[in-house]
Amino acid sequence: MGNVPSAVKHCLSYQQLLREHLWIGDPGAGVLPAPVQATQLPGLPEYVKIVEVGPRDGLQNEKTIVPTNIKIELINQLSQTGLSVIEVTSFVSAKWVPQMADHTEVMKGIDQRPGVHYPVLTPNLQGFHRAVAAGASEVSVFGAASESFSRKNINCSIGESMDKFEAVIKSARHMNIPVRGYVSCALGCPYEGNIAPDKVAEVSKKLYGMGCYEISLGDTIGVGTPGNMKKMLESVMKEIPLSALAVHCHDTYGQALANILTALQMGISVVDSSVSGLGGCPYAKGATGNVATEDVIYMLNGLGINTGVNLYKVMEAGNFICMAVNKTTNSKVAQASFNVGIE
Ligand SMILES: [Zn+2]
Repeated sequence: MGNVPSAVKHCLSYQQLLREHLWIGDPGAGVLPAPVQATQLPGLPEYVKIVEVGPRDGLQNEKTIVPTNIKIELINQLSQTGLSVIEVTSFVSAKWVPQMADHTEVMKGIDQRPGVHYPVLTPNLQGFHRAVAAGASEVSVFGAASESFSRKNINCSIGESMDKFEAVIKSARHMNIPVRGYVSCALGCPYEGNIAPDKVAEVSKKLYGMGCYEISLGDTIGVGTPGNMKKMLESVMKEIPLSALAVHCHDTYGQALANILTALQMGISVVDSSVSGLGGCPYAKGATGNVATEDVIYMLNGLGINTGVNLYKVMEAGNFICMAVNKTTNSKVAQASFNVGIE
């Protein structure tokens, strides 16, 4: 892999580091079982499902248009890592999000690996039908806990967005297509500041009640701390079963891993992340990317939590996309592994 010079890959101590601390073993081998001797903190889940959102949430915020074949290659590489969910693209209007204008080509172009889910974002019925026609078998709707953010980001009030989502969810139910619901600004809004936990719970409850099988609570601008993550989750957990909740943390203020750990300790076992920490938010200035998938897996490995994902292969995919879009990785784990090579 390009991020790790080949001399380093053959260095004994580096290999040992990878095997003993990253639990990724032989990169040519399949996914290895979880480490057996890691320290388990009490209350943590044994398995965490990682929802990879880099190809959609991440690339959506890249200013230069990423070629379709690069997107397809990234998704195909991620499909080989053991990830069970990879969000592929967004069936929004090209006018709103030019980066996602090739959604149909990307959806049709990827190799769908058995056992891997490939959800796509569908903001309205029109997008939903296009997504299904392109071969999507799972979709997501994207709501907000902040009225101002909803208006700026999806151009309608929370109430109006719920009507659109209801139409999508109804159609999806008829076709046996599972729908995931996002609630953005769950820990803060660029326009309104603090968001009341009750508001997050209210929007989440609506989406869950309409039939979303999972609600992903998004700290869209990365301002949350373990303190307000705990308060928000306590409020949402009163309305929705734990097994139907996920967290989606951005790392703008460097709190993402701490926030995720807090959520795990409260029983959450689904975490959204983005390879290389790709991402941001065009309507939330200054927001950096999602927490990096590599960093989440490294932490989970260290906690003895199984993810079924091969960290080495994710790092390879991360290296591929960073080279392709000419960016430096935002993953601390990938940066550190690179630095091992420099010494
Ligand atoms: Zn996000």
